[in-house]
Amino acid sequence: MYTDAVLNVFSQRYADAREKFMSATEMSSIVDKVNSYKHPLKGPKGEKLFCDIAWLGNITAPKVLVLVSGLHGVEGGIGSAIQSDFLSRYRRLPADVCVVLVHALNPWGLAWASRSDHEGIDVNRNFVDFSAPLPTSQSAHIWQDLINKKADIDAVGGNREQFDLLSEGQYEDQKALYFGGTKPSWSRECVEQLAGQLHLAEREQVMVIDLHSGLGPYGHGELISDHPVDCAARQSLVDIYGATLTEPVLGTSSSGLKQGLHDYFWHAQGDHVSFVTLEFGTFGSSEMLRALFADQQLQQQKVSWQDDKTREIKYAMQDFFCPDQKQWQELVLFRGRQVIEMGLNGLSGLDGHAHN
Ligand SMILES: [Zn+2]
Repeated sequence: MYTDAVLNVFSQRYADAREKFMSATEMSSIVDKVNSYKHPLKGPKGEKLFCDIAWLGNITAPKVLVLVSGLHGVEGGIGSAIQSDFLSRYRRLPADVCVVLVHALNPWGLAWASRSDHEGIDVNRNFVDFSAPLPTSQSAHIWQDLINKKADIDAVGGNREQFDLLSEGQYEDQKALYFGGTKPSWSRECVEQLAGQLHLAEREQVMVIDLHSGLGPYGHGELISDHPVDCAARQSLVDIYGATLTEPVLGTSSSGLKQGLHDYFWHAQGDHVSFVTLEFGTFGSSEMLRALFADQQLQQQKVSWQDDKTREIKYAMQDFFCPDQKQWQELVLFRGRQVIEMGLNGLSGLDGHAHN
């Protein structure tokens, strides 16, 4: 369906993904500027790491569409592909919309093929108020049962209740999965700086689309809203995306209820700011837990990319979260293009195709 040249936007590795993204920004006639936030650490080949933010179109426009990739490091290959594809396709934007592409929000995780950041933080559980008592979770016993082999991964991955509990986010055990941290992460600080630069109070409408992979059926791009069901920001998502919007709070989503989501930061910025996750499924929850469990155990040691076992675990992470399969890549690009186009049309008041 798509040619190899079109699908060439996909990369499993950070350095390749960044090169494609940066060269696409250089080729684009609608990029106003790129801000690069340098990460304190380096990648496995000694490469420098950045979160790059490209501003497209009229940067003071009343409406803004923000597209974020790589909050969960290793998932960045898919978001980066959608962003580079977008840069190569659009020669103009609606006059009233600015587009902001946040590339590799957690560049360390993308470079090292981890879902979490360099401090073991799941950035998508990190947006809590650290000056207040932290949320509590009952998930610790599930993790301990996995470690002690009292439970097996297929049993947890195949049980929706257990899986949702394990993945809801926890703030007690830094060595376990879904750890939300004890302070704002490096990536969260990037988000906070960006929000300041966006001058949100002066905008009419803002929509953030956060690009992820791993949950749900193979190649399916699910739009997930964690807004309360009675707010205007959620209504604007329903107006644009209609019945394809899913909501954990209503039980209609592949995702369960979670603590400390990236969503909550943007929700707090006002009713004119809506946030939606676009999540692409790959090989199911049990396979995901297997890959994450192995990587989590590995991260407790000093990681050497030269070690065969390390590379085996890391390649399994890349192949799970960004499969190098034409069929999957085509599904991702088609849905990615569709969601962005509907978002742009919806924001600019043009006719989106979801209206009913
Ligand atoms: Zn994710």
